[in-house]
Amino acid sequence: MKIAVVGTGYVGLVTGTCFAETGNNVTCVDIDTEKVNKLKKGKITIYEPGLDVLFDRNIKQERLKFTTNLEEGIKGAQIIFLALPTPPGEDGSADLKYVLQAASDLGHLLEEYAVVVDKSTVPVGTAEKVHAKIAENAKVDFDVVSNPEFLREGVAVEDFMKPDRVVVGTSSEKARKFMEKLYMPFVRQGNPIIFMDERSAEMTKYAANAFLATKITFMNEIANLCEKAGANVDNVRQGIGTDTRIGKRFLFAGIGYGGSCFPKDVQALEKTANEYEYDFKILKSVMNVNQEQKTKLLPQLKGHFNNDLKGKTLAVWGLSFKPYTDDIREAPSLENIHALLAEGVTIKAYDPEAMDNVKQVVGDKIEYTDSPYGALLDADALLIFTEWPVFRTPDFEVVNKLLKNKVIFDGRNLFELEQMQELGYKYYSIGREVVK
Ligand code: NAD
Repeated sequence: MKIAVVGTGYVGLVTGTCFAETGNNVTCVDIDTEKVNKLKKGKITIYEPGLDVLFDRNIKQERLKFTTNLEEGIKGAQIIFLALPTPPGEDGSADLKYVLQAASDLGHLLEEYAVVVDKSTVPVGTAEKVHAKIAENAKVDFDVVSNPEFLREGVAVEDFMKPDRVVVGTSSEKARKFMEKLYMPFVRQGNPIIFMDERSAEMTKYAANAFLATKITFMNEIANLCEKAGANVDNVRQGIGTDTRIGKRFLFAGIGYGGSCFPKDVQALEKTANEYEYDFKILKSVMNVNQEQKTKLLPQLKGHFNNDLKGKTLAVWGLSFKPYTDDIREAPSLENIHALLAEGVTIKAYDPEAMDNVKQVVGDKIEYTDSPYGALLDADALLIFTEWPVFRTPDFEVVNKLLKNKVIFDGRNLFELEQMQELGYKYYSIGREVVK
């Protein structure tokens, strides 16, 4: 099939590349000229494990193309995906300006029947709005389908190629057939394509993200209570995670969730609830708790240094909002770094993939190092914000030599308490006793 993907960011590039991989001819459209020029030269614009191989192959085999021109991009496309940003508007609800602008443009440009697919995360009722916008100018028949995306950054290719499920919201039999044909190669192992109405599909995406954010936040509150009550959250996690009704995933305590999805989607769902005059109390708590959780280590850090951080040098391991991505949107690291800079701290940071993105936000206010160890030299303490595997088993003989003091503030519980005790570290983590 001929497919167009409008918006070539994390979701758009993965979507376009994976559809090309199953033999479709895909054109990805983006308004960012610099991005498109890079892509046209065969240079990948995001870090996503495994994507580069598929990207190279499909460009070489001419199934994957890029353009800044929407008209050119959608020419002959049977299915047009909208993978556009839906950032929080001023009041926190999802801002649909990019999606509706693209819909309006499509109305002028459609020359033959096409299925227009909302792949962006959009509030209930958006498919109807997109339909109405296109219809303002369209001279041909078309359908609008909601097909929310569930990929996780860091394992996006795997998630896209072998999804647990594909959700398709449509009331059109014709559109349903197109979507079924497109997704069949991805669900050969038997995972379902779940068809439903558009509104339910839109709600499904928010319900999934809000549930996961709530699960993380619940566990963070258990962790906070564990600290006070003298329990160990890791033991509690194992104790409850083995219950199949609860499950093992999303139970790791830490300094809160970040990223481009959970924060904005929880907020947007709460706004949708407001719109329908429903008071979604759990979501309000989730947002408040997560906000506090992000900087949870700071009071302990200040306490450790007798409330005088000025002039201290701190090593930071991990900047991305989670491992295996260069995405720093809403990353807890940033909030902590800004707070620490305001205290007059010098920061030396290392991240395997996210340093270029952080440079664009924080610039030279912090120092970036070539290795985890580089950040430790003469630092008064080590702070860990992201659980990249490379941080899990460092050579502590080297760490001991470089760090000025044996102090670690670990926002991701990378190390065992016994290990820290044996190594003689003062070790602060989440939901576990402080090793002194
Ligand atoms: P992104 O910011 O990485 O990419 C969006 C792209 O759209 C950018 O490259 C931007 O230049 C481009 N763009 C903006 N206006 C345009 C226009 N008029 N025409 C063409 N291109 C335009 O965003 P993303 O992370 O890919 O997210 C896209 C959507 O998918 C959002 O609604 C998000 O909530 C949802 N989503 C994201 C993820 C994720 O993990 N990132 C997962 C599931 C769903």
